[in-house]
Amino acid sequence: MPSGNSPPSHPAPAPVPAPTTSAVGTTGSLVIVNPATGARIAEVSASTRAHAEAALVRARAAQPAWGALSHSVRADTLRRLARAIRDDPQLTEILIAESGKPHYEAEGIEVFYTLEVTRYYTGRSGRRALRDEVRRPFAFAYKRARIVQHPRGVVGVIGPWNWPLLNNFADCVAPLMAGNAVILKPSEWTPMTSLRIAELWRTLGLPTDIFQVLPGRGDVGQVLGELCDMIFFTGSQNTGRKVAARCGERLIPCVLELGGKSPLIVLSDADLPAAARAAVWSGFAHSGQVCIRTERVLVEESVAERFTELCRIEVEALRQGAAKPPEQDDGIDVGAITFPPQVTRAESQIADAVARGARVIAGGERRKDLGGGTFFRPTILADVTPTMDVSREETFGPVLPIIRVRDAEEALRVANASPLGLSGSIWTRDVARGRALARRLEVGSVCVNDVLVNYFVVEAPLGGVKASGLGVRHGPEGLRQFCRLETIIEDHPLLRWVSPLVARQLMFPYRRRSLRVLRWLMRKLY
Ligand code: NAD
Repeated sequence: MPSGNSPPSHPAPAPVPAPTTSAVGTTGSLVIVNPATGARIAEVSASTRAHAEAALVRARAAQPAWGALSHSVRADTLRRLARAIRDDPQLTEILIAESGKPHYEAEGIEVFYTLEVTRYYTGRSGRRALRDEVRRPFAFAYKRARIVQHPRGVVGVIGPWNWPLLNNFADCVAPLMAGNAVILKPSEWTPMTSLRIAELWRTLGLPTDIFQVLPGRGDVGQVLGELCDMIFFTGSQNTGRKVAARCGERLIPCVLELGGKSPLIVLSDADLPAAARAAVWSGFAHSGQVCIRTERVLVEESVAERFTELCRIEVEALRQGAAKPPEQDDGIDVGAITFPPQVTRAESQIADAVARGARVIAGGERRKDLGGGTFFRPTILADVTPTMDVSREETFGPVLPIIRVRDAEEALRVANASPLGLSGSIWTRDVARGRALARRLEVGSVCVNDVLVNYFVVEAPLGGVKASGLGVRHGPEGLRQFCRLETIIEDHPLLRWVSPLVARQLMFPYRRRSLRVLRWLMRKLY
């Protein structure tokens, strides 16, 4: 486990002056604190512009050889790393210590997801997605169009603090499999997991400089936007807009995975106990610090009271605290708040809601009885209206507002009024109706009678619409976006003789007879 004053464990670039500002820790360093205990667990040097420039030079030099390898050789590399991640108890320990989540969520969600996404992109689906595609043109039937996918070069992956593995290294798997070099800039709050993976990469002797980690603050992310060939960003809307603006100036592509206000709609014919269990899990997993979490429940009036009571019972049974060793961790459901400002946001949204008539059904306050950690009680608000802050702004914390609606139509209207469109969930026993309503929700993905599982179905694209993002992760789409396309037009092998004949008719000098033939064709074909 990294400990106090240890230097960053990424390869030391040339010495450069330390930065003069500090968001976390002293000048030039990042102090990492365990949010569940308040204990300081590590201090690492913050990377600077010069580190980022040096990393980019190394990545550019290394990438062509990596990009030229076959899919199966790259796949072997990433599978070896994934197995090392799975078998490294230290990694899970670091992940828990810097994020404050229960052991179950670190290993059962983050490590599991990393293995699953690696399995998908290193397997047959990944190989197929990257293969050349040959298309047969209609008008020029004697030609063949071959679509070739090339790596874009160096992809900068910028990650948030809520999932130090799943939204950081695991998002590097697709760009790496597409043949790019990757520079990962984890959140300044949780860089230790990514640094551990860089260490595993080196220990395994995997190709040098293809995957590098730069622990640092926003300034380093900004430099990546100035230097890399593409940015894969996960984080807040505010930062996402800055990243997009920078990429726009440089005309380089970016993928933005931003926040959400995901609705969970409960219709009167739903299996209410199942819906309540799902609402509570998707609302309070990792203390609500999950991008596709249920941010608001829209429940039909006729079942609202019973549903709210079922949620209250579920929440009362939750066990909160610091993670325990795996053999005892059966005792913890809800961990700590990783990013302290989330507490203030939860408090202010609760205060606004209560002042405007909402009722606190469970929770509603910080926990001071759990030692030095930052904990907030899982909170349910009833009688919430769509205009309250908690219904409109992303909470990203342990607050679950319940809004009563007349019917499914009103639920859709309220859900779609949000400028955000990440994820959604619909509960009804009538699956066809659920699917029909799902199609009308303005979000990137919807689960009918389930929650959060859309993140783990790696075969299908997952991303935000409206202000929740651009681009996707997962599926062939999530791999191909890390490639630039090149089209090569060739003659059909049996029709090479046609090309010179057509060229004579189409090219200079223009002939009236050729135009007559073209006119005849346009009338016949279209
Ligand atoms: P954030 O925007 O504050 O930071 C994200 C990353 O951007 C950090 O690494 C940060 O150092 C870096 N950064 C800061 N300024 C930058 C700049 N000018 N240029 C480039 N990089 C810069 O977000 P956060 O607080 O770490 O994450 C929480 C947010 O992330 C929530 O809104 C949550 O919904 C969202 N999120 C979305 C998804 C998704 O898949 N859609 C997943 C997880 C989290």
